[in-house]
Amino acid sequence: MSKVHNYSAGPCILPQEVLQKASEAVVNFNDLNLSLLEISHRSKDFVEVMENARSLVKELLEVPEGYQVLFLQGGASLGFLIAAYNFLPMGEKAAYINTGTWAANSIKEAQRVGDIVEVASSKDKNYSYIPTGFGIPNDAKYLHFTSNNTICGTQFKQTPISRIPIICDMSSDIFSKKIKVSDYDLIYAGAQKNMGPAGTTVYIVKESALGKTGNNIPAMLDLQTHIKKDSMFNTPPVYPIYVSMLNLQWLKKNGGVDWIEKINNQKADLLYNEIDRNSLFEGVTAVASRSNMNATFVLKDENLTEEFNKAWTAANISGIKGHRSVGGYRASMYNALPLESVQVLVDVMKELEISKG
Ligand SMILES: *Cc1c(COP(=O)(O)O)cnc(C)c1O
Repeated sequence: MSKVHNYSAGPCILPQEVLQKASEAVVNFNDLNLSLLEISHRSKDFVEVMENARSLVKELLEVPEGYQVLFLQGGASLGFLIAAYNFLPMGEKAAYINTGTWAANSIKEAQRVGDIVEVASSKDKNYSYIPTGFGIPNDAKYLHFTSNNTICGTQFKQTPISRIPIICDMSSDIFSKKIKVSDYDLIYAGAQKNMGPAGTTVYIVKESALGKTGNNIPAMLDLQTHIKKDSMFNTPPVYPIYVSMLNLQWLKKNGGVDWIEKINNQKADLLYNEIDRNSLFEGVTAVASRSNMNATFVLKDENLTEEFNKAWTAANISGIKGHRSVGGYRASMYNALPLESVQVLVDVMKELEISKG
């Protein structure tokens, strides 16, 4: 089998050894002669998986005391609503930064709960930059932002400065770089971009900030429900949690977030340098806002599309077609994508330029 260079935007590439262990657990988990898929989530063996996964999140992100880690369902798309229900009293105000399709969706959902003030937006330029220098109303209960904008390929390089609590959708860059968890009241992230397979969403929440809205929160959307039950209020998605745990073990074994951040910077530098150097290509987003996870770029001459597509396909590259709303190309360089895969793409770009010499 020849190796595929997998640039999928999500669900994402996972390390081969994680996939191997994950597949073994489907047949025989922990030498129980039972599948992980056919044992109780209350069994000692699975409770251990859940506790391992939660403590790996705490360890890798240096989560301080007073925060809880949960593995829930519903994707980040339900997280949009969970964030609002748990932090915004009905009818009151919250501040949102609109930096892309997902951010816009988070606003739409939060509007079911309260009065959402869009304090900054990059919609005027098709979400190609991260806005700066905006005000936040004093009476807003929290500021919500999307740390990495998966579709257009922009990323916040710093946490926005805010006097009010901050909530962040970190779906597509969690575990890609160091963060300071104490800056946030809530972080949530769908697993399938950079943590594991689809099917679970991680929540990192400051426990003392909960229970203050007076909202009548449906049990499944109430983070306190899940905290009280150690993330097992109902049957958790056992397999996505297990595979996420394996992936976090892989990250820890190799040197953790510090280690992967360096590699992610190298990958992004390698590709963006080529996009800027190569006369046939240009980046889609403002240079200062470029995402280290999702690099978006286009061919200056669309007539070369077929030729370029053939060349990268022949090099065993998969998943770099841009999102339908942006067009062009998107190379998603999540944690498990090796530097060598980026070099293969860069070489294809170089060769195309030479052939047009
Ligand atoms: C993919 C994505 C989502 C949506 O996640 P689901 O798990 O599909 O609901 C939300 N936010 C960001 C930043 C994403 O990349």
